[in-house]
Amino acid sequence: MSSAPGVNSSAPAAPAKLNLLDLDRRAMEGFFAELGEKPFRATQLIKWIHQRRVADFDAMTDLSKALRAKLSEICEIRLPRAVFDQQSTDGTRKWLLSLDGGNAIETVFIPEPNRGTLCVSSQVGCALECSFCSTATQGFNRNLSVAEIIGQLRFATAVLAEEGLSVTNVVFMGMGEPLLNFNNVVAAASLMTDDDAYGLSKRRVTISTSGVVPALYRLAEATDVSLAVSLHAPVDELRNELVPLNKKDPIAELLPACRNYIADKPHRSITWEYVMLDGVNDHDEHARQLAKLLAGIPSKINLIPFNPFPGSRYRRSTPERIQRFARILQEAGYVATTRKTRGEDIDGACGQLVGRVQDRTKRRFRREQQQPPSAARV
Ligand code: SAH
Repeated sequence: MSSAPGVNSSAPAAPAKLNLLDLDRRAMEGFFAELGEKPFRATQLIKWIHQRRVADFDAMTDLSKALRAKLSEICEIRLPRAVFDQQSTDGTRKWLLSLDGGNAIETVFIPEPNRGTLCVSSQVGCALECSFCSTATQGFNRNLSVAEIIGQLRFATAVLAEEGLSVTNVVFMGMGEPLLNFNNVVAAASLMTDDDAYGLSKRRVTISTSGVVPALYRLAEATDVSLAVSLHAPVDELRNELVPLNKKDPIAELLPACRNYIADKPHRSITWEYVMLDGVNDHDEHARQLAKLLAGIPSKINLIPFNPFPGSRYRRSTPERIQRFARILQEAGYVATTRKTRGEDIDGACGQLVGRVQDRTKRRFRREQQQPPSAARV
């Protein structure tokens, strides 16, 4: 974010050190090229930082003493810090990670018999105001840096390793809209799938979006990780109410953008997320409309029982309703699954993540004036 003209920011005392956690492979190679070093240095550093989880340059024994000294002088490896650690009765873990500037984000680990899924945040708060999501009530503060996104995985991997657990899947389903933090999310995802970093397969890293159409076209060029789309309604009128972004990027434009994302990727499908709201979007007719809407698109449909939060105006559909809704979709030939609610007792379930979002004024300004006054930008 740049300062508006006329806003005079005082000069920083000393240049901040470069956090190497912010660099994916391409950026790391660029950094070493500037230092006059060979590209393989990037591989070495990525392995030390992400695979071996070493943050002390002196311990990086395959680098020359001179290079280690140089790196210590100009760089650092700075991780997010956990300020709160909660464990659900079902084993789900939730960490509150504190960031620079007084903000905090939530990261959730969901263990299952054959896998461990980490749900990461991409923004501090969210600007999209989906009417059934508690992150929306927090307003939006800022995008997370690459270091803050990959730092969630780096942090969780280290903590879980001590308990003999590992992260096998990552979903961008925490706080924020990943496609509104495009570059940082793509860079972080590339580290997740980098064999010298976390080596997760592209099928095990999922970006979940509320459907930012122009960004979906760019995403197709930038990555091939899995895509989940928060559909939640089969018709515009209802989707406008639940996901207000739909007024800008309606269903008729969203679907071609999703088809395009998997067009050159054989055997891939889109996961459609559909929150089950009692009496709102859970009628038989909605299921039939949904089946018709998605015809011809390789699809999986994931029904998410609504997770309530203080002040929420919706109720969760009954299990019978959800089952019937799923059955209609299955009879139409779709894979339709119901997401098991996990971590509810620690507010770690979908849509319950709130973190600690400073300076929520931005949302008010955006609503009232469409644009924040420059004085409010820091
Ligand atoms: N902004 C992204 C990722 C955030 S949330 C997106 O919209 O996809 C991940 C999923 O949880 C989304 O499908 C979101 O719609 C859903 N969700 C949000 N609030 C929820 C709630 N209260 N109960 C159940 N699911 C919720």
